[in-house]
This record gives sequence, structure tokens and C-alpha cells, in this order.
Amino acid sequence: MSVLSKEYNACIYARLSRDDGDKLESDSIINQKALIRDFISKHPEIHVVSEKTDDGYSGVNFDRPAFQEMMEDIRSGKINCVVVKDLSRFGRNYIEAGNYIERVFPFMGVRFIAINDSYDSLDRNQSDSLIIPFKNLINDAYCKDISVKIRSQLEIKRKKGQFIGAFAVYGYLKDPEDHNKLIPDTYASEVVRAIYKWKLEGMSQGRIAEKLNLQGVLCPMEYKLSMGIKVQTNFKVRKQALWSPRSVTRILTNEIYTGALIQGKTSTPNYKVKKIVAKDEAEWIRVEDAHEAIIDRRTFDDVQRILQKDIRSAPDEEVVYPFSGYLKCGDCGQNMVRKTYTAGDKRYTYYICSTRKAGKGCSTHQITGDELQDAVLQGIRSRVDSVIEMEELLKIIESLPETQRNVFNYDAQIVKLKEDIERNRSFKMKLYENLQEGMIGQEEYFLFKKSYEAKIQSAEAAIRAVEQERQQAIEHNRESYAWIDVFKKYQNITSIERKTIVELIEEVIVHEDKKISIRFRYGDQYTKLAELLGNYSDMAAE
Ligand SMILES: [Zn+2]
Repeated sequence: MSVLSKEYNACIYARLSRDDGDKLESDSIINQKALIRDFISKHPEIHVVSEKTDDGYSGVNFDRPAFQEMMEDIRSGKINCVVVKDLSRFGRNYIEAGNYIERVFPFMGVRFIAINDSYDSLDRNQSDSLIIPFKNLINDAYCKDISVKIRSQLEIKRKKGQFIGAFAVYGYLKDPEDHNKLIPDTYASEVVRAIYKWKLEGMSQGRIAEKLNLQGVLCPMEYKLSMGIKVQTNFKVRKQALWSPRSVTRILTNEIYTGALIQGKTSTPNYKVKKIVAKDEAEWIRVEDAHEAIIDRRTFDDVQRILQKDIRSAPDEEVVYPFSGYLKCGDCGQNMVRKTYTAGDKRYTYYICSTRKAGKGCSTHQITGDELQDAVLQGIRSRVDSVIEMEELLKIIESLPETQRNVFNYDAQIVKLKEDIERNRSFKMKLYENLQEGMIGQEEYFLFKKSYEAKIQSAEAAIRAVEQERQQAIEHNRESYAWIDVFKKYQNITSIERKTIVELIEEVIVHEDKKISIRFRYGDQYTKLAELLGNYSDMAAE
């Protein structure tokens, strides 16, 4: 197993900015790309899968669209190699650049090549030589302006000593400009994202911790220390703390990563009592979007649901199987249990009712792993198909003029209310005639008049409310159909992973005859939309 035999899917990255004083001739995007292509042509193990160009973006920060797209491709596993002409094309902020090259890329298994600096991360002997190209970067004559920035970056780094015990949660740093604000830590936030991704893919917290330790990723505490006393690398006597299932769980359950800041979870009753008591959830102070999110809300919620399911299924198991916690017996409603047996050199999986297994009644409800996979796959496919069909219908409806849109039900309601008003108005008029004709007295007249007026008023208010609702329905339709996209992602599904189950399914009920029924997520929304669309097809038929 030679390292060189590995294949690399590479992204060619080019950047140009007049503000940086780039030498336009030699640094032109075309020249950069030509140089890189020439280099790659001599490396058969590298395949170009994408080219990213930031034209007109300074190298001082990494907030460049093409660069960020490239990072997305790295996260999704599309590429595992980045090739640039030289380091200055990658970035001119050497602390940030170093962060990517020394920490982020190695962690994500990305090979990084800066051709003119003769740097290739694959070449292990070179890891120290990285200093040299970085120096070149600083010494660049036209970089005066940038060196000022670097100095202030160094100051920031010095200040990072304060993070020890300052409780900036792993994944974030305190904003050097505003100590009450958190900003994502480039390196640690990638680790956080990876932890969530692995969890969604079905790994247990124990396995995640193991993987991180194997990859040499420092646990939050060690990482904090490394930021503070980075210079004193000689003091390596102390035994390093490692990632544990608990520290992984802490990260998986911390809502702070969604951008929400929740404070005031605990308090001390008074100054004499040093005891810390947990406060009622209602008393917590929460601020949404207090800082940049590292994990989007949906991913966070999905992970919380998985953690719940894990607790209900097999907390001690090494791997969390795709269906763990999702299978229910169709008769007794209890969990199904996973069993395996080996025949020849193959291992087979099947599931049976846990009540039956415990000898407490029920029947086996036995189904093999393969049968279950096939059935669930089929179920998902047909649901996805029908969701896509619904969306197409929806698009047609949305292209209709407003008057023909989903205002039908509302219209009927409004017509009825208007009739109510008319009726009460005519009653009211009749009432006056009745009074004049002497059929009713003054007292009765005022009493009835008042009641008719009240009815008219409440009907008018109801019309306003319905109209408002109708307007909102039109405006929010699109937004409330975000769940459709969740299903659409699985249009070409061929196999079932834990992530798929978690995203799409509430539970799978296994019946005695190997039939299954699937309770999908967003069931209410699905039914509502089906009803709405049903109304339309009714209307069309009329
Ligand atoms: Zn059962």
C-alpha cells in the first residue's frame, strides 16, 4: 500500500486582485491555470475535478466565494486535493493560511500543493519547510500594507491566551474586537461539522471520539491549551487528555452551534449558598442568531432526534445500525431487535419482535435485513415520487393568476359571511318597520337592533380575518414547503443509510407477513398539501 498509489480529486484554485498589488502579467488567471495544468499533467494520480477562481478578491481574508465553494466540495468529499500556483494565491493572511494548511486540510485528509513554493503536503519531510514560503509571503515587497495586518493578527493570537478558562465554546473564538461576541474558529468549526456529519451517518459517540483521537485531533481542552501556550512545545510530559464519548455528546447537544446563545441556565440562590441550581427552561435567556452558525438548525434537530433514538435502542453498541430505534412491531408496538447469524462466510441480519424474544407473547414478525432494506427503499422511492409530483402541481398552481389560486376555500367562507351580513341587515330594516307597525315595542326594538348590529360587526371582523389569512397563505406557501426539498434530495436513492432514515422517517412498522408500513416525517404537511392539491383537482374537474 504505497501512499503514492492513492488517487486525488483535485481543485485548481486561482485568485487575482489588484488591491494586493498582484503582478498582473504572471499572476493572470490564465497563466495560473496553465501552470497548474502543466504541473498536474506530470502527476497521473491527480485528476482535476473542478476549477475555482476568485477574480478581484483580496488574499487577506478567506471570505471569497470560489474559495468557500471549494471548502464545500472538500466537506462533501468531492475533492481531496487543492493545487495553487503559489501560497500567495491561496491567501495572504499567513495565520489563516497556516490554519488551513497545517490544521484544517490535514484533518480533512486534503493534499495541498503550492507549485512555485515547491510545497506538497504529501511530502512529509517538508512539513517544516512550510515556514520558508510563508516568509516569502511576508517579505514580498508590495505587502507592506498586509504586514501591518499580520502584526495585528499576531496581537490577536497573543490575546488568545485569554481563552484559557474564558469559556469560549470549542468551535468558536471570542471576537477580538468585541469580547461579548463569538466568531467561528476556522479549524475547530470544521471538526464540529465533521462530528455532526459522522453522527448523521450513524457513528456512535464512542466511535467518533476514537476516530478523532486516531487522527490526532486535540480534544477541546487540549486545543484550548495549545492556543494559549503554543510556544512551549517542549513541555510534553503531561499526559494528553483525549476525546471521550462524553465530550463528543457535549458538542452534539450544544445549541450554541446553531447561532443561538442560551444563558442563565443556572444560578446561585444567594451569596451565602454557594450551590448552583439549574433554572427552569422558561427562565433561560435565549438569543437567536447571536453569532454565526456552524451547524444549521435542521442538522442540529436531526442529530437531537438521533440521540433520542439511540437512547431508546442500543446505547452501548459500537456502530448504530441504520434502523436502530426506528423499527416497531406492528402488533405489540414494541421495538424490533436486530440479530445476526453466520452461514458459510456470510453474515446475515434479521429482526424480530422484542416481546417475542423475551418470551412474553406476540409473534416473531421476523424480517431479514435485505427484505427490510428493499421494502423501505421502495417505500421511500414512492413517497419521493409522489412528493415530486405534488411539487409540480404546486408550481402550476403558483403560476396561475392569484384569483384562481388557493383562495377557493377562503372565498366560500367569505361568501357565506357576506350572506350573513346581508341577512342581518335586512332583519334590522324589517325591525324598524315592525316598530312602526306597532308589532314590537321600543324596548324590544333596541334589544334586537343591538343584537343584529353585533352579528354584522362580528361577521365583518371575520371577513377581515379570513382575507388576511388568505393573503398570508399565498405569501407563505413557498416557505412552508421547504420539507419538499428534504425528500427531493433522495430522487436517485439506491441504498439506505442512517442519515436517510433520520431525515425522512418517523418509524417503520413491521407486520407479521413481512409487510411494512412507514410513518414518514412531515406527515402532517404532506397530508395538508395533498388535501390542498386535491381541492384543486376537484376544481379543475368541475
Ligand atoms: Zn410484537
